[in-house]
Amino acid sequence: MSVRALPSYAFDRWHVATDAGAGVASAITGLEVARIGQQRLDFVGMAAHARKVGGPALRALTFHQRASLLKGLADALLARKEELYELSRHTGATRSDSWVDIEGGIATLTSYASKGRRELPNDTILLDGDLEVLSKRGSFVGQHIMSPLQGVALHINAFNFPVWGMLEKLAPTLLAGMPAIVKPASATAYVTEHAFRIMQEAELLPAGALQLVVGGLGEMFDHLGGQDVVSFTGSAATALKLRAHPVIMRENVRFIAECDSLNATMLGPDAGADSPEFALFIKEIVREMTVKAGQKCTAIRRILAPRAAVGAVEAALKQALAAVKVGDPAQEGVSMGALVSRDQRADVRDKLAAIASDGRIVFGTPDGVLADAPEGGAFLGPVLVHCDAPHQARHIHDTEAFGPVATLMAYDGLDDAIALARRGMGSLVMSLFTADVAVAETVVTGVAAFHGRLLIVDRDCARESTGHGAPLPGLVHGGPGRAGGGEEMGGLRGLAHYMQRTALQGSPRMLAAISHRWFPGAPQVYDGPHPFRLKFDELAPGRSFRSAAREVTLADIEHFAHFTGDTFYAHMDEAAASANPLFGGRVAHGYLLLAFAAGLFVDPAPGPVLANYGLNRLRFIKPVKPGDAMSVELTALARNRRSKDQGEVTWDVRLSSQNGELVATYELLTLNAA
Ligand code: NAP
Repeated sequence: MSVRALPSYAFDRWHVATDAGAGVASAITGLEVARIGQQRLDFVGMAAHARKVGGPALRALTFHQRASLLKGLADALLARKEELYELSRHTGATRSDSWVDIEGGIATLTSYASKGRRELPNDTILLDGDLEVLSKRGSFVGQHIMSPLQGVALHINAFNFPVWGMLEKLAPTLLAGMPAIVKPASATAYVTEHAFRIMQEAELLPAGALQLVVGGLGEMFDHLGGQDVVSFTGSAATALKLRAHPVIMRENVRFIAECDSLNATMLGPDAGADSPEFALFIKEIVREMTVKAGQKCTAIRRILAPRAAVGAVEAALKQALAAVKVGDPAQEGVSMGALVSRDQRADVRDKLAAIASDGRIVFGTPDGVLADAPEGGAFLGPVLVHCDAPHQARHIHDTEAFGPVATLMAYDGLDDAIALARRGMGSLVMSLFTADVAVAETVVTGVAAFHGRLLIVDRDCARESTGHGAPLPGLVHGGPGRAGGGEEMGGLRGLAHYMQRTALQGSPRMLAAISHRWFPGAPQVYDGPHPFRLKFDELAPGRSFRSAAREVTLADIEHFAHFTGDTFYAHMDEAAASANPLFGGRVAHGYLLLAFAAGLFVDPAPGPVLANYGLNRLRFIKPVKPGDAMSVELTALARNRRSKDQGEVTWDVRLSSQNGELVATYELLTLNAA
């Protein structure tokens, strides 16, 4: 591999460092793979470029257009993924470690792309929650909206996932409509830089949307403001330094921190040595200690086992760890690679010394040389510590050795196990191996507030479980306290970090126009053709239709009951229905009312309405009795274009009685031709 001086990307072009810089060594061979020099970048100008050029360009796109952008970036990366695997090997990663980083990162982009298309409107603002009626007559209402922040998102990433770490932050940021400046960790910046380059070369991103800083950030923090976001992943010590920056505090710059964590795993008291959960527990611990050579923020650091089982757990772990082959991932049979650098290995050894002072090392030789591993690399075999007095111990609960190190300890009863789990002071994830729902409920109630994610593994989900260590785009990643107090991803929840929630107040007419939808109290248009005659593009929210009335007779109810088989007493038995405290006599089926409603509002001839594909928010409000008359009002509520030719229309449907009282409401969903 040739040694490259890594450039930064600012003002929509590459900038090469002005000096020779410092070398970055391969974790496998110890030979130099890249150089990081001093970049004389105009950091203040870069942030301004993102705000002035990138932000407006992204905000001009709808969520669907931004989602397509993400999909295009994911496709570009996938097409050139082997280039990334080639580089990734030098970070010490095995092929499967790199798969998590590279293809896991691409999958995160793809997941956000599809969520953006499926779950967001083809619009530029997002409604948050329902309309709040703020006055008696309904002429004054409130609606929360979310709009993209107009600053820049500064992403500072850790070394361990150079691709995933960049993409899991970029996906929600770009989908929300914010430009970003990415600062990768120096140790693995050569992989991030290449992934960034692939995305730039795809020529999909608007100018100013994405910039890259290899090396230090200069004075950038001094010029951040209240519209900017810093999203940091790394150690708690760096997080503390950065979040305490006077500008971050003075300007209330949003600061998201994903830090280190003393994640625990717990074996339930029910899981004896012969149970499937016991075997799964051992397998998961070994996987977590060895994947990425234990350099994962979510890796298992503390192993909690019932006192009666702790001996069996230690024996099983030793046996399984003895089968792990550490070495150059390019070699056949190697299951664990190297730490990222020799500095990192020295750091792990220091931290391990502190942890081991709380107990005794029962597997591994932290200072030993590994026979099969190349000499210049940063190899370290897995190390298991056993702590006999975990309540008296300190380091095992607060010192993160960011490598293949974990500590086993016994607990006496679930309350004790919960108390030990909480000693992590807030973690990203905890896993529990149990088949007993009562154990699971007690543990979840005891520890949920201390964790961002809880995984409960039993024989039912084990085969398909994604495992203790894997953050997923649809679930939140982050944790309280020690873990940084931040949250990322979580599906569309992740967009909220890059958007401002605003409570809009005003008249229904005003808020409906701004929200591009109809609200009760906003103008309705009844004139002209039936709304089912209008194409998607012609159908403005507020287009309405009011039906004639139809009487609901006893014969209708009985016919419907026998026809469908729904002969529930409330429709068929006068005496029983009279005794029902809600009805006071026989009532029409709710589904009969829905069917009659369709008969009243449908315009039957072929036209732009292609299909009815569902109902939302159906509520039966008042019973309809034989002899009552019902009518329907149908109003186009919102539109969401799906393609050039088609779009979804949401309709507000209201069923009223002859007295004008609402008897049922729902939203009808149709697919309409454009
Ligand atoms: P780190 O030393 O804290 O560095 C993290 C990032 O901060 C790097 O990009 C680093 O850049 C940058 N940085 C350091 N000092 C800075 C400063 N004064 N101003 C601006 N940026 C600065 O952490 P690391 O060694 O890369 O990562 C390992 C740690 O990250 C572990 O503790 C691990 O648990 C944690 N981690 C957490 C998560 C999570 O999601 N919670 C994920 C992965 C890792 P340079 O490399 O150029 O110094």
